[in-house]
Amino acid sequence: MKLPKGKRLTKQRKVILEALKGVKTHPTADEVYDMVRKSLPKISLGTVYRNLDILCEMGLIQKLDIAGRQKRFDGNPKPHCHVRCIECGRVCDVDYEPSIELKSKNFSGFKVLGYSFDFFGICPECQLALDGDSDM
Ligand SMILES: [Zn+2]
Ligand SMILES: [Zn+2]
Repeated sequence: MKLPKGKRLTKQRKVILEALKGVKTHPTADEVYDMVRKSLPKISLGTVYRNLDILCEMGLIQKLDIAGRQKRFDGNPKPHCHVRCIECGRVCDVDYEPSIELKSKNFSGFKVLGYSFDFFGICPECQLALDGDSDM
């Protein structure tokens, strides 16, 4: 893969990238910070934020602009669908490929570069909690 000029995969970025690729939970920057602190105890939250942005610019991860709450990050840079829990904000991948024939659509003169397609609902854990039959 060709990387943009001046952007190198430093040790910190590699650790952040590997942490992100190792989970399916689409963590927030704070959660990424907690994960990478185990191997990089001296890293600061600001550094994690900055490196997450750089990894996005490098096209190695993606930032999820899903409505509400904190920004989440995805170690899979390829376009794919997500489902978000409206109760707890958890985001999961969805095995669904929307088929949109971009060329045949009228986008009010826009040159369309992509699209995002996200579902929302209530995750299994929140369904249990909402059912009110947990004895916790
Ligand atoms: Zn939930
Ligand atoms: Zn994803």
